[in-house]
Amino acid sequence: MSATRRSRRSSPPRLRAKAVRVAAALARLYGVPRWSGPRDPVACLVETIISQNTTDRARDAAYAALVARFPTWEALAAAPERDVRAAIRGAGLAEAKARTIRRLLAMLLARYGAYRFDALKAMTDDEAIAFLTTVSGIGVKTAAIALAFALGRDVFPVDTHVNRLCGRLGLVPESSAPDRTFRLMRAICPPGQAYAFHVGLITHGRRVCRAPRPKCEICALRSLCRFHRETPIATKLPPGTGGRKAGT
Ligand code: SF4
Repeated sequence: MSATRRSRRSSPPRLRAKAVRVAAALARLYGVPRWSGPRDPVACLVETIISQNTTDRARDAAYAALVARFPTWEALAAAPERDVRAAIRGAGLAEAKARTIRRLLAMLLARYGAYRFDALKAMTDDEAIAFLTTVSGIGVKTAAIALAFALGRDVFPVDTHVNRLCGRLGLVPESSAPDRTFRLMRAICPPGQAYAFHVGLITHGRRVCRAPRPKCEICALRSLCRFHRETPIATKLPPGTGGRKAGT
């Protein structure tokens, strides 16, 4: 494709219009997910920290084990780190995650005198993200998930799966890292639809646009997808059958 055509395709108005079409297509495919209502931001942050580099099932089991063993934030903060590690071991990276959870609780106690995050509600999205990411181990993705899922803010979290789809679809450069994709998507995400768009992409990534082998042949987003348009058929075949892994 010529450089002129490529740069026209990636102009902000075109990308905004494309994001609207992708969000609408996802809503047609999977329905519009409803936000389940406010949640304790501390619980959401702890759960998201545990979720890093693991499956939903392992995250849920580890979070349930943590809550069962330490029913209050006070009990969790007072516990020896090895006990916290042991409770969440099933989710992997237990040492790093236990440290991050304890740093978060220590910061809350030092700043607010309690394990509560009421102050978050008064902050703008940018202020909240800047504030949360001062805790070592909490990145933009984790902060954005807390804002979107616990507080219902119109923020579009970008994890590796959402990043993969945004890149393949051509909403952001294919090589964009998740934090850059987060910044780029803020400019083009349809207003008021960040939560539904995020959840729709996660669902599509699980069912169709999988990491090692996207099922382009059955995908309803093909007409909108850069990867499908620009990738020769052979490279979409499963590894071992003459194809290569998508994105490699
Ligand atoms: S056409 Fe292929 S790469 Fe594009 S969104 Fe669908 S499954 Fe993913």
